[in-house]
Amino acid sequence: MNPRNPKFILLLVIAVMVAAFFIFDLGQYLTLDFLKSKQQEFDVYYQQNRLATLLIYAVIYVLVTALSLPGAAVMTLAGGALFGLGAALVVVSFASSIGATLAFLVSRFLLRDWVQAKFGDKLGAINAGIEKEGAFYLFSLRLVPIFPFFMINLVMGLTPLKTVLFYLVSQIGMLPGTFVFVNAGTQLGQIDSLGGILSPGLLLSFALLGVFPLIAKKILGVIQARKIFAGHQKPEKFDYNLVVLGAGSAGLVSSYIAAAVKAKVALIEKHKMGGDCLNTGCVPSKALLRTAKMLSYAKRAQEFGLQSTEVKFDFAEVMERVKQVVATVEPHYSVERYTKLGVEVIEGEARITGPWTVEVNGQTLATRSIIIATGAAPMIPPIKGIDQVDYLTSDNLWELRELPGKLAVLGGGRIGSEITQAFARLGSQVTQIEMEERIVPREDTEVSEYLTQVYEHEGIQVLTGHMAQEVRIESSGQWLVCEHRGQQVKVAFDQLLVAVGRKANVTGFGLEELGVQVSQRGTVEVDPLLRTNFPNIFCAGDVAGPYQFTHTAAHQAWYAAVNALFGQFKSFKVDYRVIPWCTFTDAEIARVGLNETEATEQGVPFEISRFGIDDLDRAIADSEAHGWIKVLTKEGSDKILGATIVGSHAGDLLAEYVLAMKHNLGLNKILGTIHTYPTLAESNKMVAGEWKRAHAPEGLLRWIEKYHAWRRG
Ligand SMILES: Cc1cc2nc3c(=O)[nH]c(=O)nc-3n(C[C@H](O)[C@H](O)[C@H](O)COP(=O)(O)OP(=O)(O)OC[C@H]3O[C@@H](n4cnc5c(N)ncnc54)[C@H](O)[C@@H]3O)c2cc1C
Repeated sequence: MNPRNPKFILLLVIAVMVAAFFIFDLGQYLTLDFLKSKQQEFDVYYQQNRLATLLIYAVIYVLVTALSLPGAAVMTLAGGALFGLGAALVVVSFASSIGATLAFLVSRFLLRDWVQAKFGDKLGAINAGIEKEGAFYLFSLRLVPIFPFFMINLVMGLTPLKTVLFYLVSQIGMLPGTFVFVNAGTQLGQIDSLGGILSPGLLLSFALLGVFPLIAKKILGVIQARKIFAGHQKPEKFDYNLVVLGAGSAGLVSSYIAAAVKAKVALIEKHKMGGDCLNTGCVPSKALLRTAKMLSYAKRAQEFGLQSTEVKFDFAEVMERVKQVVATVEPHYSVERYTKLGVEVIEGEARITGPWTVEVNGQTLATRSIIIATGAAPMIPPIKGIDQVDYLTSDNLWELRELPGKLAVLGGGRIGSEITQAFARLGSQVTQIEMEERIVPREDTEVSEYLTQVYEHEGIQVLTGHMAQEVRIESSGQWLVCEHRGQQVKVAFDQLLVAVGRKANVTGFGLEELGVQVSQRGTVEVDPLLRTNFPNIFCAGDVAGPYQFTHTAAHQAWYAAVNALFGQFKSFKVDYRVIPWCTFTDAEIARVGLNETEATEQGVPFEISRFGIDDLDRAIADSEAHGWIKVLTKEGSDKILGATIVGSHAGDLLAEYVLAMKHNLGLNKILGTIHTYPTLAESNKMVAGEWKRAHAPEGLLRWIEKYHAWRRG
């Protein structure tokens, strides 16, 4: 940096001042002990030179805050002790606001341009938020000091917040806190014996210090709620404690919980009870995969010592079985069952018409709280010409009664991969197309490579790094045109299945009109309590994200329901620490916590323990001797950071790691647990054994060996 550059000069001045503070140990003068020992001298000086003392105090205060040095809190207490409540409050209030604004300006002058230029694109949302809500946000940070004040000064300097606004909000926002500290200081000043420490005045002042942030937080919550509810008429009485939109996994669980705790709850469903999971998702897909698995076993008959197993089947009957499976599971989620559980189920399309009102079938329901659980729908990418064909999605796939000869599956994620394998095993000629460089891209590369090998072995064409661009209908047939490394690649298909992700259902039922905020990812914006920007409207499941699983929807549902019904007493932040999932391909791919790629990207130090399931007795007996378990542990410890399992029944095997991670049990505990022989679950013990072997105390073992040799004589 040019030494004549004003930024450089300012930086140098600050560095010299801060260095001087620490080199000359000036901090010793800003301790309670020092100030207390000099209290009498200060008092005398103050009585003789009031104005000068206040001025010197104010200048030192401004310098300490402007340079972000430690000591402001002690100085505030000392101010109260020396000058009394009134004078100290005025001086500290102005000095702290001026000092904070100087720190804000220094940070802005030195760093803002650089930060905005480097991270401007990522800061877009923060900048927009500061433009819109900056003053209120700063006000809340000033009132409820969850971050140290010096940090707030510096960070706010990097945002577009106006300086005058920063000063004014700081001055007002810090006033209550300053009062509490100065008041505590006045009490400290009166202590002249050990007994004084327990004086009621001092105890009250410190109790006030402790509860002030909580009270301020509550008051802020009320102010924020008033702001958001302004213009909406709150009903005098409510028909319900809770109204839930959508009877999928999230809606069913939240309404069930509400009924179990005796709340009056209405559950509204516009289509089918059970939502996606039952009707078009988990249940039908797993039923179809089961038949596909049977067929794969039949193909491998000789591996099991059978000469041949010729399987004849009609695809339509397979799909009828899938339908039958759904019908068999259906009663678990039926209107009758939920009515018996105490939920009022309303069949119809719901619309949120106000913070406390939901309209359905021409009726308006008044409710204290609402849970949005409207799920997600398949995303259709804007591919040229796609509307010319009756493409399939996970919504309408289950109506198919004729096996496609050539099936193109667009999407290499979980859903696309499961359907790809199922149809290939049923006899379709399947091409799977993925724009990323590998299928199942959320997993480690070795997992993607393994699955690709399995697929290619089963006759599936896997095209990765292929970007679908156009659907063409020509005399030669239907084609999906893709771009691959600058080349055009044409994929012929009879049916095209689109499985490129799922988009949250956030439109068409009143959210836009009411002003419920939607995130950049397209899901409803929620805080850790699963509240939307309306504090009585909650959200759970696929529509809230960030995960799109039945078990995460049900997990969130508990938090949404409990916070909606009992939030005025206690709220719970949703716990995403241990989230498992499984891709039900063959081999299954199951994961919880970090995989190797993520741990490396996040810079988390880790060790790997690995066990090849091909070596497990039961897997060999089952002719399922393939796959592996890879467990990541914290460096030098048996604490589990994550586990990936590839193999038969991986989804079931994973449960042991989910339990261990949730309850902080390490690999030693898994190793010390008896696992039934011969089961696939034994592989969990085996991998724990691998960890133990790698951490054997070699030095000690050498001594033990010598001891045994000595015993043998
Ligand atoms: C093919 C496939 C396979 C899957 N496999 C698995 C799996 O193996 N394991 C797993 O964990 N997850 C799986 N999933 C994901 C799982 O299905 C979803 O995560 C889960 O269903 C989400 O539940 P939800 O309650 O959030 O939403 P949904 O189940 O989508 O329920 C939302 C409900 O809201 C209703 N609704 C919407 N708007 C309104 C309105 N205005 N008024 C009234 N009702 C309304 C809808 O009709 C719907 O019934 C799979 C998904 C698919 C598509």
